[in-house]
Amino acid sequence: EPIAGTPVTIDDVSKRFGGVKALDGVAMALPAGRIHAVVGPNGSGKTTLLNLISGFYPASSGSIRLGTTEIVGAAPSRIARLSVQRTFQTPKLLGDLSVIENTRFGGYAREAANGFELALRLPRARREAADLDGEAMQWLALVGLADRAHDQAALLPHGQQRLVEIARALIGRPQLLLLDEPAAGLSMGELERLATLIAEMRKLGITIVMVEHHIELVADIADTVTVLDQGRILAQGSAEEVFRSAEVVKAYTGG
Ligand code: ADP
Repeated sequence: EPIAGTPVTIDDVSKRFGGVKALDGVAMALPAGRIHAVVGPNGSGKTTLLNLISGFYPASSGSIRLGTTEIVGAAPSRIARLSVQRTFQTPKLLGDLSVIENTRFGGYAREAANGFELALRLPRARREAADLDGEAMQWLALVGLADRAHDQAALLPHGQQRLVEIARALIGRPQLLLLDEPAAGLSMGELERLATLIAEMRKLGITIVMVEHHIELVADIADTVTVLDQGRILAQGSAEEVFRSAEVVKAYTGG
């Protein structure tokens, strides 16, 4: 079933941490259902941007809209209810639980809408809870981890734990998915699977904002690319435009 992705509009956003300007007057218009990559050197403000969109930190100034909803100042729980999911550089799984149990958790976000029914144990809600296992297995198969479904999550390498986070996010049918360095620590095979998976999400219609260092992956799958440097936008546009830009080449080759 297709998903109606959320467009994201960021207007003149700044974020200060004490004396540090992590983001400085950033603006972007991200159309729905596309893959938007944010690249740049360490400390350029990439993760801060994801933290502002998901409400982990409030912006110091500026506006961030999901669709037409202003979210600067909104709590993370409220933003999550707008169908926003994210993954982390350091995966946040419940390490003692199995991979499939962790994946199922993403489904509860979706079920929160009919939590009342679930509390009353109405038959429909019970059936949906059972369906969740089958659905979790499907997503795990898609990220290539079906054979690890019953292993303890903490036993997986970090790269694979990040794939479990993606499966957990997808089962919640997000309209906006924020990925923080999804390719880090993946093997070549896993990397190819990730590229296929992201293409699959694009087909579904999910809007994706992805921080990623793996430039080949970005060039391969991103619709638009924003290059950050010291909290400011150095370049922005289609992947082709951005990676042709002399400024960007210079920043990346240190020339
Ligand atoms: P990137 O993800 O591009 O590596 P970050 O967004 O993590 O960059 O960091 C941008 C700048 O903001 C850095 O100078 C970093 O030290 C600072 N920063 C990020 N988060 C915090 C925080 N919670 N407290 C203080 N400074 C922070």
